[in-house]
Formats: sequence, C-alpha cells, structure tokens
Amino acid sequence: MIIPLLKGLRLTLKRFFSRPVTIQYPEHKREVAPRWRGIHYFERNEKGDTRCVACGLCVTVCPSNAIRLVAVELEGGERYPEVYEINAIRCIYCGLCAEACPVNAIKLGRNYEFVDYQREDFILDKGRLLASAPKEV
Ligand code: SF4
Ligand code: SF4
Repeated sequence: MIIPLLKGLRLTLKRFFSRPVTIQYPEHKREVAPRWRGIHYFERNEKGDTRCVACGLCVTVCPSNAIRLVAVELEGGERYPEVYEINAIRCIYCGLCAEACPVNAIKLGRNYEFVDYQREDFILDKGRLLASAPKEV
C-alpha cells in the first residue's frame, strides 16, 4: 500500500519542479502546425479584387455544401463571382475547395480565432474573405 503512495508522491514532486505546459492565452498564443487549416481568405488579383473566376469547382467538391456561388459573365466572356459565401459553421475545414481551385483564389489561412454570437455572422462573404487575407501576402 505504501508503494503506490510513494509512486504518486514522486510524480507530484516531479511535476512540481518541471516547467508548466499551460500557456497564458490570449496573451501568449501557441504557434499552429504548418499544415493548419483555419479561416478561409481570398487571394487578390493585380486589381486588388478576388482572383476567383467563378468556375464553381470549389462548390462541386465541397462535401459540406458550405459554399454559395452566384456567377455572372462579364463582357468578353470572363466570369466573376457576384455572390461568394462560405458558411463557416457548416465547413469541416477539409481544404478541398483550396485544392480544387484552378487559380489559387480560395485559401485556408492560419487564423483560428473566430468567434461570434449570431449564426449569420459566420457567413464569410467576398468582402470578409478579402479582408481575411494575411497581411504579408
Ligand atoms: S474547407 Fe472543405 S468543407 Fe470547408 S468550404 Fe472548403 S471544401 Fe467545403
Ligand atoms: S474560388 Fe476557385 S474553384 Fe471556387 S469558384 Fe472561384 S475560381 Fe472556381
């Protein structure tokens, strides 16, 4: 009976003098893994607008049916997403949309700090996707 007690005490003392593994979030933030998939963002073209050409491939591959796209055809046959929305609640962050995109328009960033109170605030529209692009990009 004394042996398990001593074992427990030894573990307690070991932990007592070792560095704590907790971090003081949000003051200190843990670096995420290189392949982390966080909130989506749109890459910009040379005009500063989205690179998206409204081909619809991301909508087709999305297993959660989380993307809503309304495409329009501009003069000259170019396509443009009049409406592009990602429902961040439905999304499972699989990254298939980014993999399927032929022009690298939609990407998943590294941001994991995304909280809100209303369900409708989790709809990422074009403006929000453009605004979410990392600063260094
Ligand atoms: S990450 Fe996956 S689930 Fe989310 S929008 Fe893209 S394809 Fe759909
Ligand atoms: S984000 Fe990419 S895959 Fe999706 S509609 Fe736009 S161009 Fe196509």
